[in-house]
Amino acid sequence: MAIDQFDIKQAKITKGAISQEIKEYCSRQPELKAIMTFYRDVFGIQKRYAARIPAQMPNLPSEEINRRMESRQPLIESGDIKLDLGMLRDIAKDISEVIELKSPSPPNGLARSISKKTTDKKWLERFAQSFIQKNEGNMAQIAREADLEPALASLLAHTMLAPFYWKKSIGLRKKAPLGQVPSGFCPICGSRPVMAFLRTEDGLRVLECSLCGTRWGTPRMICLFCGTRDQKSLRYYFMEEDRSRRVYVCDNCLSYLKVSDLTPRPGEILVPLEDFATSHLDQLAQDKGYKRVSSTVFS
Ligand SMILES: [Zn+2]
Ligand SMILES: [Zn+2]
Repeated sequence: MAIDQFDIKQAKITKGAISQEIKEYCSRQPELKAIMTFYRDVFGIQKRYAARIPAQMPNLPSEEINRRMESRQPLIESGDIKLDLGMLRDIAKDISEVIELKSPSPPNGLARSISKKTTDKKWLERFAQSFIQKNEGNMAQIAREADLEPALASLLAHTMLAPFYWKKSIGLRKKAPLGQVPSGFCPICGSRPVMAFLRTEDGLRVLECSLCGTRWGTPRMICLFCGTRDQKSLRYYFMEEDRSRRVYVCDNCLSYLKVSDLTPRPGEILVPLEDFATSHLDQLAQDKGYKRVSSTVFS
């Protein structure tokens, strides 16, 4: 089959759809309510600000897109993200308020201290740039200047910058051949996926990026993190009561990837919610000694 025959439908997430899905998930797993409504509220803020960020049309010619995809170089480079520091400050304030009110382990006084710290535009720019450049050491250092725990700093940076990546990636997704990318990292922005699903119509394995939200299709008989095709190293586990949700492990690099099989049922999937709902599979794989290489929608 030719590569371009796999047309990838990108996720269309709305706050209404999230609320509807949360009801469904929580009727089966009530313990998910706190994390899921936290996500819904953060998403609502991101969506509101995203509407004010101008969409950026890609200035990459098709040959360059193909060349980068073949050499596994992300289409968005760190200098491509144009920041609006005033807006970034407002997003940081709104998100830190939600973290303080709704996160399962709320840090006291976060909103006030973020609101104060982000008036320092130099600090805010350094903080954002360290995330964009994926420089974790630098980010931890800059976060410490604001008394931010590393985990909280990465949650804040990831969620406040995601809308800028969404808007930058939309045009690129339309031009990039995303049907058969043999990689576990986002071809558009280079970030980690949240998890994967096998889509209803043809069972294609589709991953969704944790940062820019892009979906890409992948070949199935390969570990997407180390590239091995040795079938003796690849297997999957599931819980007896739910065979459609699986965790694929690789004995070559000891990574794992969660995959929900949608082929038995029609309909859409909200990948961030499905990720929360399958945390028992993370546990199962980690208990067997495999590590999560994928990310979450928060960090
Ligand atoms: Zn991405
Ligand atoms: Zn592997």
